[in-house]
Amino acid sequence: MICRKDILDAATAVGFNLCGTTHCGPMREISFFFEKWLSEGYGDTLGYLHRYTDRRADPRLLMEGAQTVVVCAVNYRNPLSGGYPDGFEGAKVASYALNTDYHVTIKDMLRRMLAMLQTTYPTLEGRMFTDTAPLFEKAHAERAGLGRIGRNSLLITPEYGSFVLLGELLLNLRCDEYDTPLEWQPCKGCERCIKQCPVGAINPNRTIDPRRCISARTLETNPGELSLHGWVCGCDECQSICPHNHRKPLANNPLFTPRFDPLSAEIQAQLSSRTLDDTLHSTPLARAFRTKKQ
Ligand code: SF4
Ligand code: SF4
Repeated sequence: MICRKDILDAATAVGFNLCGTTHCGPMREISFFFEKWLSEGYGDTLGYLHRYTDRRADPRLLMEGAQTVVVCAVNYRNPLSGGYPDGFEGAKVASYALNTDYHVTIKDMLRRMLAMLQTTYPTLEGRMFTDTAPLFEKAHAERAGLGRIGRNSLLITPEYGSFVLLGELLLNLRCDEYDTPLEWQPCKGCERCIKQCPVGAINPNRTIDPRRCISARTLETNPGELSLHGWVCGCDECQSICPHNHRKPLANNPLFTPRFDPLSAEIQAQLSSRTLDDTLHSTPLARAFRTKKQ
């Protein structure tokens, strides 16, 4: 048995802003919904979504003996998260891509968190994930009480809105106390993100069409013929407009404060020539531009 408070303390110590725990069990309802979404063709451009559906439906298949899912979130809001200046016509980079690739930073934070907990619990074993495995991350975050999934399909947290990145630990020990989903409906009466999306990618049933979504298409080898509306990596439009993202705190973890200013002429030159210096190369732009380190 592991103490929930020790988990939360370790999450804070390594720089996460939010953390919750939930039991590790089947995700029947969301799996059914997801399979239906796939069968309607929405995942056709993302081949990896069709693989390992059994593990996605039951995270215990990702780690033998898994008992607990810990979900952590870090705030990455920055001054441009509210939107680019009116009339800006350069290349736009989404907020998450102004930092070092979160697959690297969050994985490292989770690794340190697990090591910290193992000093108190020597029998503790765990696996770390951040957008790297067939795991319903946002649904687990809901179960762990971090927030609710909004109409734009993103997790909305009461404290930080939706500008949060998630990381998970699967643990082999049961927790002394599990969190419960929030009694909160963030989208009641609101449809701002649907109206704001420049390509009509938000479906009425809280799902996204990745075949239209700019954020998904900027990471594809072939982004298709629909306009990207100036975005070169990701897209923040449905987050910037969301009322739950207004007047929220900026990122306080230095790993998630911007590493460059996309409004500067020097950066715009790199974005238009698609040649990235070392700083930009350590960000998600490297994947979006399919560049290799020289
Ligand atoms: S990320 Fe951009 S394109 Fe995708 S759903 Fe949101 S607003 Fe639409
Ligand atoms: S903009 Fe409105 S409808 Fe969209 S996610 Fe935010 S609260 Fe929900």
